[in-house]
Amino acid sequence: MIDDLVTGLRVPTDLYVGGAWVGAGDGGRFDVIDPATGLPIADVANGTVEDALRCVDAADGAAAAWARTAPRERGEILRRAFELMTERTEQLAELMVRENGKALADARGEVRYAAEFFRWYAEEAVRLSGELRTAPAGTNRIMVLRQPIGIALLITPWNFPAAMATRKIGPALAAGCTVVLKPASETPLTALALGALLSEAGVPDGVVNVLPSRRSGDVASAVLADPRVRKLSFTGSTEVGRSLLGLAAQQVVSCSMELGGNAPLVVLEDADLDVAVEGAMLAKMRNGGEACTAANRMYVHRAVADEFTRRLGEAMAGLSVGPGLEDAAVGPLVNQAAVDKVSELVAAAVDDGARVVTGGEAVEGRGFFYPPTVLSDVPPTSRILEEEIFGPVAPVVRFDSDEEAVRLANRTEYGLVAYVFTRDLARGLRMSEALEAGMVGLNRGVVSDPAAPFGGVKQSGLGREGGHEGMLEYTESKYVAVEW
Ligand code: NAP
Repeated sequence: MIDDLVTGLRVPTDLYVGGAWVGAGDGGRFDVIDPATGLPIADVANGTVEDALRCVDAADGAAAAWARTAPRERGEILRRAFELMTERTEQLAELMVRENGKALADARGEVRYAAEFFRWYAEEAVRLSGELRTAPAGTNRIMVLRQPIGIALLITPWNFPAAMATRKIGPALAAGCTVVLKPASETPLTALALGALLSEAGVPDGVVNVLPSRRSGDVASAVLADPRVRKLSFTGSTEVGRSLLGLAAQQVVSCSMELGGNAPLVVLEDADLDVAVEGAMLAKMRNGGEACTAANRMYVHRAVADEFTRRLGEAMAGLSVGPGLEDAAVGPLVNQAAVDKVSELVAAAVDDGARVVTGGEAVEGRGFFYPPTVLSDVPPTSRILEEEIFGPVAPVVRFDSDEEAVRLANRTEYGLVAYVFTRDLARGLRMSEALEAGMVGLNRGVVSDPAAPFGGVKQSGLGREGGHEGMLEYTESKYVAVEW
């Protein structure tokens, strides 16, 4: 437990297993780094395979009683968790800035968004329904029950340390499942603080277990090999997602996968450019560009490309860059590897013939800073359009027709989200249907909403989080053939 990291918030640093805070046996500890300085701010217990299996034991021990707990009571516990999170918005936001680097305004927004998953699933807990039909033969009824799927392994990324955890814990608990949460090693503190908060909200011991570990592969293999574990919900890169799908296949574990994105943002020639630039700024710069939903490729009609690029360049150049806690608009990237990757993609695009409108060089000195960058005239085959940039860089590509825009937008293995800007709603809806994406922002740069089904098609994922759909992922349907 550390008291001095964030004023007014006690931040646990051990493993949370069966309601107790415990060290990692012979697993040792690992450092958590502040991306604004590159210096350690805390060390955290490094869970081992044995610790992971102890988490599964704890989740198993609590499973039957939690599944039997009245939905209303599960809902009220989640509601208390929403209230506690909301009361502690400032402290949790500051903690996230410390370990992730994001700007304070982004961190506050994330705490509110993350807490909403507890509120939404507090309300959904009492709304799970089954079905009753008459068999076509008329001889019997087809009764369909929804039951908790069982113990769930939840693996989360570093870019939204609170929201990616609550987006899984909320529906899992509402459905009556117990969980083992493995947070990203860059940002374990927020997950540990959430474990403590959930206990305070009244979540019984063993229902939520939190296992920071740098041995992610070993820990995930051991947990997924345990036949008691019936669900994997993973948010992270497509590459790691593919390997986890392989592991989960061994015990035929149900998988929900929220993977990488490479979002196109299409600006048609009839778009309101004020709306398009504002939308592009949100779609690109929310969380400093470190979002799976970040607009990675801006396709702009040739007739408005110069004007759009000029306005976008001005808006990007106007953002302040600095430590998140100092109220900068853009904080550091998460680590040096992220800065190196962004620098490499920008350099390759410039080699291909792109022009730098603003930014384009990593910031020298302490911390992992990269400035807001706009590239124009990016050739459609440039590598920066094929990989997730995961940083504050907006490549602009010109197109001439709706068909060309759709073809370019769909030319990727990803399919998480796409954005379209046009004044013609019918044209925008036709394009929304043609885009290969699980979500579309039409004249809007943000799609995330706890009440909406979030998720991707193609190699961006399987299943949906949020909305009513998000809770179904933690249930199995059971059909009873009844005669009366
Ligand atoms: P990542 O490298 O795939 O890591 C995600 C999580 O998986 C972390 O907890 C990580 O633990 C763990 N992990 C890494 N290797 C593993 C393995 N072999 N077996 C089991 N677990 C393993 O992704 P990231 O860099 O943290 O996050 C960025 C990615 O997440 C981007 O691709 C982004 O698009 C995606 N993302 C998607 C969504 C969505 O909703 N679709 C939302 C947010 C982010 P360690 O930290 O200990 O390695």
